[in-house]
Amino acid sequence: MDTNTPDDELEVWIDQDLCTGDGICAQYAPEVFELDIDGLAYVKDENDELCQEPAATVTVPLPLVRDVVAATNDCPGDCIHVRRTNDQVELYGPDAGALA
Ligand code: SF4
Repeated sequence: MDTNTPDDELEVWIDQDLCTGDGICAQYAPEVFELDIDGLAYVKDENDELCQEPAATVTVPLPLVRDVVAATNDCPGDCIHVRRTNDQVELYGPDAGALA
């Protein structure tokens, strides 16, 4: 475990296999989500670069946590996953609570 990682730091990834391409996530948090030319949503890193590898993961900027969680809850594909960086436990998304 990286002891420099704050306990409340979250990271997010998208399962593109289930993405419907509706763009809701990009409306909620355009700083984090963007549709690529393939019509699927991908996450963006802190340099605003699209992470085009499937299931790429980025850290959720603290001021955007609320928007990212809202996008996750409203995602029609149920394919946005938000997990705690430290222990990789999914807090929001289709697998949230699976370990409870
Ligand atoms: S909200 Fe979900 S299904 Fe819609 S584009 Fe974003 S990741 Fe894909």
